[in-house]
Amino acid sequence: MGGYEANFNPPLEDKYKCPVCLAALRDPVQTKCGHRLCSSCFKQIRGGNWYFRCPVDNTWSNHVFDDNAVQREVLSLQTNCEFDKCQWAGELRDLQAHLEQCEYDKIECPNKCKAEVMRIDLDKHLIECPLRLEACDHCGIEIVATQMVRHHLVDCPKFPVKCPVCGEVEVMRETINAHVNIINGDCPMVVVPCSFRHIGCMFQGPRSQMREHYAEANTQHLMNLSTRLVDLETKHRLDLECCAKKFELIVSDLKHRIEQSEQRNSQLEYELNEKRLFAEKIKNLTHA
Ligand SMILES: [Zn+2]
Ligand SMILES: [Zn+2]
Ligand SMILES: [Zn+2]
Ligand SMILES: [Zn+2]
Ligand SMILES: [Zn+2]
Ligand SMILES: [Zn+2]
Ligand SMILES: [Zn+2]
Repeated sequence: MGGYEANFNPPLEDKYKCPVCLAALRDPVQTKCGHRLCSSCFKQIRGGNWYFRCPVDNTWSNHVFDDNAVQREVLSLQTNCEFDKCQWAGELRDLQAHLEQCEYDKIECPNKCKAEVMRIDLDKHLIECPLRLEACDHCGIEIVATQMVRHHLVDCPKFPVKCPVCGEVEVMRETINAHVNIINGDCPMVVVPCSFRHIGCMFQGPRSQMREHYAEANTQHLMNLSTRLVDLETKHRLDLECCAKKFELIVSDLKHRIEQSEQRNSQLEYELNEKRLFAEKIKNLTHA
């Protein structure tokens, strides 16, 4: 870590210089022999030992103490900002806070384009940063500026593209499928089948020619239609006849069942009557 590197004004006095790192003392410790060094420089010199040798006069020692008075003095030293253009001057203790917002300090572009720009130039950079986001003129979605051409050519749903079939109409990319749809599109060049295909017209052609076809083939279409009607009628009649026959069969079957059950009923009635007469005879005999 070492001492503080800063632009001291007036220049750093020797008494505040660390003899190890030659920078301004940071968290200084004082040795028994009265010399000071940064606490991190001291730790480095001592290594893993519990004794050490003073780097100024080679005195052996095993003890240091924190020199808070000198620490305060060092922090109160006057400094200028490290950037020449910057007018800031102040105590060392405030330097770090200043540097964190110094307009002349270089910072990384927040768009992560890897450019380092002075804070003061950031706004200017953001306008031309290759990774800046820009709203697409067509769909409004924000796209990295350098990707805009690709976005237009490949992805943008609202970008006007030429119809691949008619080659003339410019339609939004997202509506191209609707434009060339065979059933309800409006591309004049898409080949569509004749509406009368269900009654046998096999003609198909570009949508723009269909009006002509319907005019030309009007008679043919009507003839097909009439043939189809006759066919349907015949089929219908046959279906009806077939139904009627089935119905008759069902009715006669029902009639037959009713007759059968009526016979059975009168048979049962007759038997019941016989049994009643027989019972009365028995009664009369026992009373007599
Ligand atoms: Zn040092
Ligand atoms: Zn010493
Ligand atoms: Zn500054
Ligand atoms: Zn950038
Ligand atoms: Zn777009
Ligand atoms: Zn088209
Ligand atoms: Zn047709």
